Amino acid sequence: MRKLASIQKILATEAIKDADAIEKATVLGWQLVIRKGEFKAGDLCVYIEIDSVLPDKPEFEFIRARSNRVKTVKLRGQISQGICFPLSILPADCSIEEGLDVTELLEITKYEPPIPANLAGDVEGMFPNFIPKTDETRVQVLQKVLDKFKDTHCYVTEKLDGSSVTFYVKDGKFGVCSRNLELKPNAENSMWKFAFENNLEEKMKGLNKNISLQGEIIGEGIQKNKYKLRGQDIYFFNAFDIDNYSYLSVSDLKNMMAVLNLKMVPVLDENYRLQNSLDDLIGKSKLKSLLNNDTIAEGIVIRPLEEINDGKVMKGRVSFKVINPDFLIKYDE
Ligand code: AMP
Ligand code: MN
Repeated sequence: MRKLASIQKILATEAIKDADAIEKATVLGWQLVIRKGEFKAGDLCVYIEIDSVLPDKPEFEFIRARSNRVKTVKLRGQISQGICFPLSILPADCSIEEGLDVTELLEITKYEPPIPANLAGDVEGMFPNFIPKTDETRVQVLQKVLDKFKDTHCYVTEKLDGSSVTFYVKDGKFGVCSRNLELKPNAENSMWKFAFENNLEEKMKGLNKNISLQGEIIGEGIQKNKYKLRGQDIYFFNAFDIDNYSYLSVSDLKNMMAVLNLKMVPVLDENYRLQNSLDDLIGKSKLKSLLNNDTIAEGIVIRPLEEINDGKVMKGRVSFKVINPDFLIKYDE
């Protein structure tokens, strides 16, 4: 599970214009508002990331009115992401060490948007263990990765705000999965419907290998249909070779999309040299959707042209998301 709460150092504090009770703090690559004087640069704190859901406990009482969820907010014009608590919220016997993951210790869980009825259905089983679930790390915790892979040839896609879907063919069996579950065939379910309408089973079997395709389903009834589509559609971002347990490169993914007549997520830049400045990357994420120019894009996903599995500065493949702060404020996330 993602590290949502951890012991971190306050890297810097800075005044906010026209504010005397609050100031800005930097923790990892995050900027947040704290009470003035509560922490100083160099102090350790418990930092809790956005997307965290806090348990019902007296110390978290203040957030109950906001469904216990840590969101992006704007205070005096300053974007604030996450919350810093003093180390005293930890149990007395907890060892204090920078970077220590205290997510489970504090009973913090990740917010997951509810799965709408048209994407639910009869469960066939757990998500298959031979395919990785879709996920993207937030760039704000990846400064070391940015430094290490600066100038690497990457491609940038638009991050779409829908729901994750996985199709696979393995040893002759075709399967359809939502974010966390495999689903039984059902024409009422939007993902199965897409598979039926696009002859996906036949097409994928025609590739003659054990393969998975993963994408984002968007449209009516999903995440408020921000792109104002009629009906629903799926845009793909992963092709995964099950037997090799490895992702295909973006050029192979693109070819496969062309052969199967499927859509890939919008590609913003195919020849991007990775920069290591967080501010620049966040600036890059502030755009309109390529699917609808009236819609603010959720952000971007950046990946190397050839897959990198570094295994040192980052767990899993090198791939990450840069979420557009304007989107988070607009949609109250
Ligand atoms: P989040 O939606 O914040 O949990 O971010 C990770 C999810 O973004 C993945 O699990 C995908 O379902 C989704 N996603 C949407 N667009 C893309 C994209 N262009 N590349 C990769 N993942 C994407
Ligand atoms: Mn999402």
